[in-house]
Amino acid sequence: MPSHLSVGEYWEGRFGGKVYRISIDAGFTCPNRDGTKGKNGCTFCDERGSRPHYVKPSLSVSEQVREGIKRLKERGINRFIAYFQAYTNTYAPPSVLREKYYEALEFPEILGISVSTRPDCINEENLDILEEIAEKYYTLIELGIQSVHQKSLDRINRMHSVEDSERAVKMIHNRKNIEVLAHLILGLPGEKEEDFFKTADAISKWGIDGIKLHHLYVVKGTALAREFMQGKIKVFQTPEEYARVAREVIQHLPPSIIIHRYSGYTPKEQLIAPDWTSNRFIARQLITSDIED
Ligand code: SF4
Repeated sequence: MPSHLSVGEYWEGRFGGKVYRISIDAGFTCPNRDGTKGKNGCTFCDERGSRPHYVKPSLSVSEQVREGIKRLKERGINRFIAYFQAYTNTYAPPSVLREKYYEALEFPEILGISVSTRPDCINEENLDILEEIAEKYYTLIELGIQSVHQKSLDRINRMHSVEDSERAVKMIHNRKNIEVLAHLILGLPGEKEEDFFKTADAISKWGIDGIKLHHLYVVKGTALAREFMQGKIKVFQTPEEYARVAREVIQHLPPSIIIHRYSGYTPKEQLIAPDWTSNRFIARQLITSDIED
């Protein structure tokens, strides 16, 4: 038996059938790009700010949702979570946030929202809106925590503190019906395996509900790519090497934590290293088969 539920299993149990995310670029920016915190962004982030290649930011939120529903219905999926994915999706005036979130929720096929953001962009005003949404809809906040080691956050130019991350998790937990998941990157420059385990232990204590695990990978057009070319960055050479570490990290998490992602993914055209990152499934297969053994 797997030790933790995957998000597919969790949502299937909760909603009684398959539920997929629909990715949205709602036109937000990021304080680490617009000059408020910094201009250069995190070293691993390219100018698309995590937007998948098929998402069209020129379309409105409702047009993007409509296209996503159409595309996924062709694959037999009929219910969805609107995933505000690109850039920092709580970084706008409350009136703008409210309008964009509700625009996605207008569709009967949309069961809720998942909002990806930075820990330093959680505040009481945006939580008021999300808590109101959570009265009627499934509501999840995805926090880019990445690591609980300040040296590592500084090394990748996150421009926020570990305390920001802990504070954000606790603020979300004070609100009703909002789930919180942590994005972590395993293999950050300067970190050893015991550092990943310390991060897993710390965020478990803070009280997260879910996790997205990423391995460190290098995308074209990033500061990380330049460092990689200079030989300053190491990545997991094989999916087996990463799977062994990821499996151990998962063992540090309480069994109630839902796994929303097992590894990073990026298409071949944008990828520099490691090459197995363009295979969406390989790491997950290795991790889950190891857990099930
Ligand atoms: S906070 Fe997110 S969008 Fe902003 S630079 Fe970092 S990874 Fe990119």
